[in-house]
Amino acid sequence: FARNAGEPEFHQAVTEVLDTLGPVLDRHPEYFELAVIHRLSEPERQIIFRVPWVDDNGHVQINRGYRVEFSSALGPYKGGLRFHPSVNLGIIKFLGFEQIFKNALTGMPIGGGKGGADFDPRGRSDREIMAFCQSFMTELYRHIGEHTDVPAGDIGVGGREIGYMFGQYKRLTNRFEAGVLTGKGMTWGGSLVRPEATGYGTVLFAQEMLRATGDDLDGKRVAVSGSGNVAIFAMEKAIALGATVVSASDSSGAVYDPNGIDVEALKQLKLVERKRVGEYVDRVGGASEALASAAALWHVPVDIALPCATQNELDGDAAAALIANGVRVVAEGANMPCTKEAADRFRSEPGVLFGPGKAANAGGVATSALEMQQNAQRDSWSFEHTEARLAEIMRDIHTRCSETAEEYGKPGDYVLGANIAGFSRVVDAMLAQGVV
Ligand code: NDP
Repeated sequence: FARNAGEPEFHQAVTEVLDTLGPVLDRHPEYFELAVIHRLSEPERQIIFRVPWVDDNGHVQINRGYRVEFSSALGPYKGGLRFHPSVNLGIIKFLGFEQIFKNALTGMPIGGGKGGADFDPRGRSDREIMAFCQSFMTELYRHIGEHTDVPAGDIGVGGREIGYMFGQYKRLTNRFEAGVLTGKGMTWGGSLVRPEATGYGTVLFAQEMLRATGDDLDGKRVAVSGSGNVAIFAMEKAIALGATVVSASDSSGAVYDPNGIDVEALKQLKLVERKRVGEYVDRVGGASEALASAAALWHVPVDIALPCATQNELDGDAAAALIANGVRVVAEGANMPCTKEAADRFRSEPGVLFGPGKAANAGGVATSALEMQQNAQRDSWSFEHTEARLAEIMRDIHTRCSETAEEYGKPGDYVLGANIAGFSRVVDAMLAQGVV
């Protein structure tokens, strides 16, 4: 860890994976000599660059951009771009490391990478967002390509930002290379279901976990955190499957509605108007109320918890409260939203099923891979067909995790199942390609 000093989130992500790999390393002692773990935890390439741009007051602003190309064992690097003031190298490395195993679990030909910038899009005008995206791409374009590295969105990067970046890539390369970015608009190479895919997929994964115990989502009470892309579509799918979603949050606070969150109103507020979640109460009224803090939503009694905001948002105390209130399924829509203490509590609690992000939120990147397939075929599939493919992929990921957990003597341990299944697929490919 000394060579990655000051990167606590990266340490946390690596430790979480290493903690579960004992049984597979026992079966393959040769992995030590082949330095498999060292190789996998060292990115193939890390790019850090200056992003200069001019704000609406005519002032020059400087941000720091990143792209960490972690593993190309299974295919071109694939993973989102995050624009948030908290972004630093350790955050991007943790996300890139997770992405390797997540992408492997989808069964699709995609490697792992991640990128972003410490740019804060909140409160910025459209013109400022465009200026930033164009400057960001002016450096990034030389490192990416449909066969090399294919970025997508993440926190702070949605359809608008992907559009500005794609426009600049096209201008710089003089190529309409649709497969270079995913999350594109529907009229210029995007895929139906991509905006919904991560949230829908998380709920489909939770549904598979429940089905394995002979139950389903119908009639369940669900706590969701966040109110961005992942959270809103997780709410939409949970409601479609008969559940009641009772909460939403953003970095400024949380709201609780015992009668069920009005997702259309929340969508308008957060995705269209880009306002604060607290305004939901004034707008919708009824029994809705603002909670004391974003984390307070974990103290409400629910059957299912879907953390969909950001890393380490659900700590040990929140996990204890959820367990005391009878939670049965926790599925991570965000990347590493549970602290290590919280995840350990859920995993060791009899009767609680815990779906880690690299399995539960893999629907987004899987649908990005479907977007790449459509781009390569110059085709565009219907919503129904694409959603059916997503559902099939989530079922397969669930099967892979639960069969692997069983094979290694830990039935129901989705963390161990996801880590070992993803690891095994990457390592097979990596070793076959020699010392690279
Ligand atoms: P968005 O930017 O669309 O939404 C993020 C949401 O989380 C916003 O509502 C944001 O609030 C909120 N949030 C951020 N920090 C906090 C905090 N400290 N406490 C409470 N809420 C907070 O991002 P996405 O929905 O795309 O991403 C959410 C998570 O899902 C991330 O972990 C991401 O890595 C993961 N993910 C996303 C995928 C995708 O396809 N987009 C794929 C797989 C994983 P505010 O508006 O105040 O910033």
